[in-house]
Amino acid sequence: MAKETATYQQLQRIIAQPGCPLCGLVQQAASTYLDTLLWESSTDFNLQAMLTASLGFCGRHSRQLLTFGGQRLAAAVVERTTLLAAIRRLPELTDTAEPPPVRFRLGRRKFGTQTQPDAAILPDSIQPCPACLREAAETARGTETLLKHLDEFSGPLRAAGGLCLPHFIQTTRAAPAPQRAVLLAIQQAVWQDLAGHLEEFIRKHMDHHHTDPISDPARLSVERTIAALTGEVPVR
Ligand SMILES: [Zn+2]
Ligand SMILES: [Zn+2]
Repeated sequence: MAKETATYQQLQRIIAQPGCPLCGLVQQAASTYLDTLLWESSTDFNLQAMLTASLGFCGRHSRQLLTFGGQRLAAAVVERTTLLAAIRRLPELTDTAEPPPVRFRLGRRKFGTQTQPDAAILPDSIQPCPACLREAAETARGTETLLKHLDEFSGPLRAAGGLCLPHFIQTTRAAPAPQRAVLLAIQQAVWQDLAGHLEEFIRKHMDHHHTDPISDPARLSVERTIAALTGEVPVR
């Protein structure tokens, strides 16, 4: 219950900003998770077991570890734990080396994350990235909360620019028909607006003699379209 309330309050705050609110929620969850983990890294034996099982984090989250100011030493401790575990597990990983069923696993990414292209070639004995799992859990909670409070959130969602394509698909899959229709209408409207802004951007750039200035939404339209189609990526 407490977690559900926390997710609701966070969503309420994030959805007031431009950009996919589920991306915002998930990024915040991953960032808090990694930051906390770095603070506790030297003493936590569960963490050591987890890092041994997953052999650390995916490429995206490993690099994110290095973005927390003043935490480079803790990141080094995490990476040392991971590397030593990897060295210990090397013989086992060599023994179990087998050609992965590439077609199946490439087509269906584990846990619905947007990352881990390498997951396709990792054996099952290596557990998924713990931060990706944390993101997947937060996505599920965020999706549920958004749908539960869609009456309240549909206006702010429209103003925020709707969901990104991956989160739109995930959310509509979980939604009953009436809510699916609401989400579809919002998404169509915001993407039509976005297409109009792209149109303005292209038209004014092709016409070197245009006199009226390019509007802010048009100026940002290429970046916003990439975010809409692929998800928000934090700019560091
Ligand atoms: Zn998103
Ligand atoms: Zn990850």
